[in-house]
Amino acid sequence: MTIDGKTRTCGLIGNPVEHTLSPVIHNTLAARMGHNLVYVPFPVAEGKVADAVKGAAALNLLGLNVTVPYKSEVIGSLQDIDPLAAHIGAVNTLVRTEGGYKGYNTDMEGLYRALESEGIRIGGEEIILLGAGGAARAVAYLCASKGAERVYLLNRTLEKAQTVASEVNQAVGAEVIVPMALGDYGRLPERRFLAIQGTSVGLFPHVEEAVIEEKEFYQKIHTGFDLIYSPWETRFMRLVRENGGTAYNGLKMLLYQGIIAYELWNNVKVSEEDAMAVYEQMRAYFQ
Ligand code: NAP
Repeated sequence: MTIDGKTRTCGLIGNPVEHTLSPVIHNTLAARMGHNLVYVPFPVAEGKVADAVKGAAALNLLGLNVTVPYKSEVIGSLQDIDPLAAHIGAVNTLVRTEGGYKGYNTDMEGLYRALESEGIRIGGEEIILLGAGGAARAVAYLCASKGAERVYLLNRTLEKAQTVASEVNQAVGAEVIVPMALGDYGRLPERRFLAIQGTSVGLFPHVEEAVIEEKEFYQKIHTGFDLIYSPWETRFMRLVRENGGTAYNGLKMLLYQGIIAYELWNNVKVSEEDAMAVYEQMRAYFQ
């Protein structure tokens, strides 16, 4: 691309940001859609988030993504926040408005589009969700707000599962989320479930770890969706497959959260053809 006086800049703030695939998403989309836009990662040191957002506004950056560990901290620096992001308590996308930035959470809608594109239903389903951190909390909210029948939320620290369950149940006005300790999976009803893996266990370089190891747990799963995409096949996914289930990684979630951010920044709709072209570019990093 040619950078000139009209080039708009978007970027990513987080720490670390060196291994991000987000530039692949946004720079590929800009090239395919003919937008004069460049996307750059910006490492932001601890305690500097407010300065970073202020600086971005002063430099008139069109938009920012926000990643670990600043998705909650950044909220204090926003001009405005989308109600969904406020409910979830985490923001991963900032959009330039007059006077500052408005914060959105596109992770959740990104996961929903990823599930849809694989033909995985949430509405009316009974779902196992592993984890109660930032990502799992958004997934719990997604499942509850998209009509899941029940979500068994299993976490190492039971109190965190209980907190997420009560907040989400209160937000949707129904007792959808059932908090449980990890070791209590034996108490799950006798049937097969969609299971969403939302802990950080198994993330590269700890590729030989899964949050639950026992075969009896994986025999309860017909479809496993791991939010992790590095490694390409996590141990959780391998255990699901070895016990007769189908498994997916989180790369399409990453793809669609980026696409939704790009749509917000540029006020456009990205076609499925462009989305799949970006996906192929991202996949190439895992071959
Ligand atoms: P987080 O807030 O740090 O939460 C970590 C979760 O993992 C907590 O539930 C924690 O349990 C659990 N955990 C950590 N170590 C454990 C262990 N040794 N044994 C059992 N449980 C353990 O992290 P996050 O932001 O939610 O992210 C979770 C994962 O989602 C990450 O791997 C991230 O890469 C992935 N993610 C993917 C996408 C995507 O676009 N595909 C987007 C967002 C996140 P405790 O509560 O007991 O500590």
